[in-house]
Amino acid sequence: MQLLIVEDDDAVATALADAVAAAGHTAQCVTRGEDALLRHREADMILLDLGLPDMDGLEVLRKLRLVTTTPVVILSARNDERSVVRGLRQGADDYLVKPIGLTVLLARIEAVARRSRMSSPVSKLLQVGELSIDLDTREAQLGSRALNLTAKEFDLLTLLAKHAGSVITREQILDALWGDAFVAVSRSLDVHLTGLRAKLERPGMIINVRGVGYRIEANLQ
Ligand code: CA
Repeated sequence: MQLLIVEDDDAVATALADAVAAAGHTAQCVTRGEDALLRHREADMILLDLGLPDMDGLEVLRKLRLVTTTPVVILSARNDERSVVRGLRQGADDYLVKPIGLTVLLARIEAVARRSRMSSPVSKLLQVGELSIDLDTREAQLGSRALNLTAKEFDLLTLLAKHAGSVITREQILDALWGDAFVAVSRSLDVHLTGLRAKLERPGMIINVRGVGYRIEANLQ
């Protein structure tokens, strides 16, 4: 297995690389989140530190998950509940707290690899009335019309469609799309929402539930 180790502490990175090499894997080390995003395609699994010099590891994870399902194991000194929950909810396959014994680390890596081999990729199609969303190709269609959505618009529509008929709060949307319910991107949510509505050309398809959030009708005509 080819591992990508994203770790800015040289001593830790070297110890990790030696350990996985001893177990028969190959490892490539990068120290910056930006490099992880550039190099992830070469890896079968990514070991991700959270405290990186250029961006937060959770932001790296969020960006990775927009483009790949490659297993990601977070390896961080942060052991607070919020970080662990956010890491897992943003798509990490495991969350390990440093310091960790190398034998345990290797066993966890093997376990994640096993699970990812077992979950064979299936085409995922989401259908709500005339709206169909292909989660693999990230294409959405309304009736016979293809919707030319931006990444954020697509994620927003998918989130609402997955919960068709129920209200999604602004906090849930911010959390799902930006990885934090309390960041100051509240206004840019409105921008994406306006863009999405314009492209849908169906006023009333996404309903504002005043003071609560948004809802897509389950029975779209
Ligand atoms: Ca670090």
